[in-house]
Amino acid sequence: MLARFADRIAARLPAAAIVTDRDAIAPWETDWRRRYHGHAGLLLAPATVDEVQAIVAAARAEGVALVPQGGNTSMVGGATPPADGSAAILSLRRLNAIRAIDADAGLAVAEAGVILATLHAAVAAHGRRFPLSLGAKGSATIGGLVSTNAGGTQVLRFGTMRGLVAGIEAVLPDGSRHDGLAALKKDNRGYDLTQLLIGAEGTLGIVTAATLRLVPAVAGRTVAWAGVASPDAAMTLLRRFQRATPALESFELLPAESLAAVLAYLPDARAPIAGAHPWHVLIEVTADDAPDGAAAVVERVLGAAIGDGLAADATIAASETQAEAFWRIRESISDAERATGPAAQHDIAVPVEAMPRFMIEAAAACEARFPGTHASGFGHLGDGNVHFHVRAAPGTDPADWYARQVPVVSAFVHDLVVAAGGTISAEHGIGQMKRDELERLTPPARLAALRAIRAAFDPGELMNPGKLVTLAPPRNPQ
Ligand code: FAD
Repeated sequence: MLARFADRIAARLPAAAIVTDRDAIAPWETDWRRRYHGHAGLLLAPATVDEVQAIVAAARAEGVALVPQGGNTSMVGGATPPADGSAAILSLRRLNAIRAIDADAGLAVAEAGVILATLHAAVAAHGRRFPLSLGAKGSATIGGLVSTNAGGTQVLRFGTMRGLVAGIEAVLPDGSRHDGLAALKKDNRGYDLTQLLIGAEGTLGIVTAATLRLVPAVAGRTVAWAGVASPDAAMTLLRRFQRATPALESFELLPAESLAAVLAYLPDARAPIAGAHPWHVLIEVTADDAPDGAAAVVERVLGAAIGDGLAADATIAASETQAEAFWRIRESISDAERATGPAAQHDIAVPVEAMPRFMIEAAAACEARFPGTHASGFGHLGDGNVHFHVRAAPGTDPADWYARQVPVVSAFVHDLVVAAGGTISAEHGIGQMKRDELERLTPPARLAALRAIRAAFDPGELMNPGKLVTLAPPRNPQ
């Protein structure tokens, strides 16, 4: 099947778009966390939408599965091919033109392979910004961000990709092209294909380009760091900031151990404040008028918090370099924690007000249930979304931990999340990591609807097979 497919596309595509060299394919067969290892018989790297169409049409004709891939920074094994070598990776990284930037309309049209940091720089040159950022911004692509409905550090003010995408161009599983790039403020023609494709994880088609909403570039930002006693205190501080300013963009919470992990991982990094604090908060407020236009409000709120004991200590970044250094700490947590040993990671959300209590109680419950483990959460407190990690007991064999213990630990955590009225995936998606848990924890009506949508677009289940939701009852994880 794959050989016939390869022959068919070789006749339609330039040689640069077809990669068969094992060494060149290998890096793309493993996920970012190195938990999932697949095998692809072929890697296809189209540079035009016509080439994407030719690939999808040929794959359908030959019954070959395609695994769309952007920057391969998925946290849920979403872009890793199945292990049996039956699928081809469809890399969108060469489809990477920024087709248009309209500063007046506040819109940019970017192809799927455009890297987020590249888009940030390009729109900045037009006095605009794309208000979504995350630790993987140097690798994650527009197609991946759209397909995972990515969140990141500015969701508090600007929402997830669902709110930032004004239109999508995609190649649907039958090989047809959906041109939905027009940014219509009103469009009432029934089902919203743009919203269906956002967060579809490649199961409903290949996103080839997106129209993205931009906001004016800011004149400046004030970035601060505070030490607090508990997630509860952090929540009170968050509410004070929200009452004080509409320009609060980020409010990130991290426990002392996450800071320690980063400081050990980045030898040149320094703790922003002195002393031992059980919890830390990173705050960003932007200003439209002057570079330091947000400083006064940040100083006022933090001053009052220190005055009445809500915060133990705080500092405001004195320069953009220092602000970047603060953010580097936050954005390095995933890398730093990966280096500290095996863990079960959970990207979860509960109602915002419930999060402080959940973090404390869930950590205690996990550590009691799984002796020797250590549990804690960090992340987007203002969104009610934290990355809740349960670290294996010292000396645990990583292979045994991932194969045997993580499913039990994760099921325990997910049950706690569902009992708290939350979701087992706040921003990373389902991929292959959470597929069986989605099946287990999703009410029947919703699960049936998800399957029906997938079946309507892709009855042969050739688009990213084994991810998100399967048409048949789930197979064993790879
Ligand atoms: P990939 O990993 O290549 O693919 C992701 C999914 O999208 C897969 O299912 C893939 O099949 C599908 N896909 C990719 N491109 C297309 C396309 N063109 N058409 C159809 N389907 C496609 N995520 C957050 O939301 N918030 C964070 O704060 C955050 N922080 C992160 C920090 C680090 C250090 C890392 C490594 C990851 C982080 N992530 C975060 C996760 C990840 O960066 C996002 O999920 C991102 O959207 C993935 O983009 P990508 O281009 O790497 O996609």
